[in-house]
Amino acid sequence: MIRTLISDALKRSDFGADVNIKGWVRTRRGNKNVSFIALNDGSIIHNIQVVVDNEKFGDEFLKPITTGACISVIGKLVESQGKGQNVEIQADKIEIYGTADPETYPLQKKGHTLEFLRDIAHLRPRTNTFGAIFRMRHHMSMAIHNFFHERGFFYFHTPIITGSDCEGAGNMFQVTTMNLYDLKKDENGSIKYDNDFFGKQTSLTVSGQLEGELAAMALGAIYTFGPTFRAENSNTPRHLAEFWMIEPEVAFYEIAENMQLAQDFIQHCVRWALNNCQDDLKFLNEMYDKELIDRLNFVVDNDFVRLTYTEGVKILTEAVANGVKFEFPIDWGTDLQSEHERYLVEKHFKKPVILTDYPKEIKSFYMKQNDDGKTVRAMDVLFPKIGEIIGGSQREEDYDKLKQRAKEMNVPEKDIWWYLDTRRFGTAPHSGFGLGFERLMLFVTGMSNIRDVIPFPRTPHNAEF
Ligand code: ATP
Ligand code: MN
Repeated sequence: MIRTLISDALKRSDFGADVNIKGWVRTRRGNKNVSFIALNDGSIIHNIQVVVDNEKFGDEFLKPITTGACISVIGKLVESQGKGQNVEIQADKIEIYGTADPETYPLQKKGHTLEFLRDIAHLRPRTNTFGAIFRMRHHMSMAIHNFFHERGFFYFHTPIITGSDCEGAGNMFQVTTMNLYDLKKDENGSIKYDNDFFGKQTSLTVSGQLEGELAAMALGAIYTFGPTFRAENSNTPRHLAEFWMIEPEVAFYEIAENMQLAQDFIQHCVRWALNNCQDDLKFLNEMYDKELIDRLNFVVDNDFVRLTYTEGVKILTEAVANGVKFEFPIDWGTDLQSEHERYLVEKHFKKPVILTDYPKEIKSFYMKQNDDGKTVRAMDVLFPKIGEIIGGSQREEDYDKLKQRAKEMNVPEKDIWWYLDTRRFGTAPHSGFGLGFERLMLFVTGMSNIRDVIPFPRTPHNAEF
């Protein structure tokens, strides 16, 4: 008999039909005569209720059907008498695939803390919370591909292993096949990479942008969506050592079009969540964040504020003058801290904010320089509860200016000769940005720790599972 997904079974009304359902037992309760098994197969947050005539199967047979066990049930689809569901199954045949010893299966009762569940990340997908989150992760991935595909962007694959260390986005994880117990060094004590796998020092990528730009200068509009690695020792609820990043790059876009793309993109993804993940969203809204759905609707319906860094600093300075306390000082030329970003978004504007035109000293060498000689066409999209969700810019397309800025910022020309070449041959204005997928996931799920929106988080001192 062909298996029916619970998500499909719950929609049916052809009562009397035989169905085969397979899944994991959430609970079994009942009395002497009848048992009710709540079965979940991951296709949807809801369980299907299996009604079992105890006499028909025998207590000995039913005993191992406890929370966590995996079973297959063949039975009749019937209209439910009980509250909370329309459809249930009257069991004719039950096969037990695998039991779960109640003494040792950790997911016995509901209401485990998120911290506890992180320690059993191999089992947490079986909870309502993580089922919802990981289904939404899938839907968000689809939303992203859909958005770009519909607009004629090409999905472009940039390398994971990179030989350049110039993006300046963060500390990198080194990739090597050298014997770390027996490193060969030259007369200055520097490690010799000649015999390493690639014959040079290599690392895991911190961004696919530079290669993405090469592609945009040929295909017009591209996006990447892949794993990204940063060896930053920052133990925050918003940073992972391994995360997924989406990086569109578009020829002929200037900063204003880049900002609009960022807004349209996020709004599309959030709308997608509202349209495709209703059950899971309702659950998360109920359990974790009563304002979640309202917040998502608000973001879909409202333009993001556009503001320069200089204007932002002015607002923050005035706030301090009016008695607002920050841990870190504000002063033109230094990077904004998360507390500052969140003040602008959550207190001052109460809207997502796109901050532009940052001081060139705190941004990367490739950003387009403004005529004031002090700022670059950077843009950060700042979100409530999250802070920075997107970082991007218009890129410097002028060969001499780019080369000069790379020199000033100590980016060796030998590492970026290929990147500079795009500015020698058919250069054009272009722009792009990077969105951290898990930051978007934090926003759409209402979760507050980034470790809870990726299946197996990699953070300092944690690479279990
Ligand atoms: P932050 O200031 O929050 O550390 P960043 O400025 O270093 O971020 P960018 O280099 O601009 O980040 O990267 C683009 C996007 O990637 C960020 O806007 C963010 O959404 C995401 N991102 C960056 N670092 C991380 C990380 N360690 N874990 C998860 N997402 C990240
Ligand atoms: Mn950034």
